[in-house]
Amino acid sequence: MSLDEIRQRIEAAARAAGRDPADVTLIAVSKLQPNTRVIAALEAGQRVFGENYVQEAQRKWPALREGRAGVELHLIGPLQSNKARAAVELFDAIHSLDRPSLAQRLARSVQDLGRAPRMFVQVNTGDEPQKAGIPPAEADGFIALCRSLDLPVAGCMCIPPEGEDPLPHFRLLRMIAERNGLNGLSMGMSADFETAIAEGATHVRVGSAIFGERPKRQAEDADPASSD
Ligand SMILES: *Cc1c(COP(=O)(O)O)cnc(C)c1O
Repeated sequence: MSLDEIRQRIEAAARAAGRDPADVTLIAVSKLQPNTRVIAALEAGQRVFGENYVQEAQRKWPALREGRAGVELHLIGPLQSNKARAAVELFDAIHSLDRPSLAQRLARSVQDLGRAPRMFVQVNTGDEPQKAGIPPAEADGFIALCRSLDLPVAGCMCIPPEGEDPLPHFRLLRMIAERNGLNGLSMGMSADFETAIAEGATHVRVGSAIFGERPKRQAEDADPASSD
């Protein structure tokens, strides 16, 4: 599917929900995609991109960004504390702020570098044991902690459990964001971004629907296991 078609579907979903399409940002998720596809998206005017791995993004984006104004990079994958500094240096937004140790590391890097990416608190709305994200029951306290560390918290992010109806997860995330006075909602992927927009998503993260299937991740790309 082309970028244009995705933009049209986003616009239609926003209008159907009585929302201004300009309030929905399309994050084109370019992780593991060949550069030729990413360059095609850049040439079609796309400027906001999502990456999952700090090292992969460090390798490819300096060159891709060169000579192109307005490129915005969002980290949407899990972030190890020992890569917090590199993430603050490279990214304009981080969607995977999900634990106190990481919040502390990010806060220190923000102070050191004088640069503060917008942050989204990732909530594990399905309370899945293997999944990243702060449990919903701890979200309010965690958001307060992040604010006390002067992190610029812009909103909340979730990845609903696979194979489940995403709707209750989007609703739960929206409730958590609203009661904490947060406007940003990073939710919705290729399979469910229209549902997410109906529930108030401000940022949809769409990969394969734009770029096609991703090649499998190679071992050499793998970041070492979390060091927390
Ligand atoms: C890979 C990824 C996406 C994009 O997924 P698609 O199904 O290809 O649209 C969105 N969000 C996160 C957190 C991802 O890791």
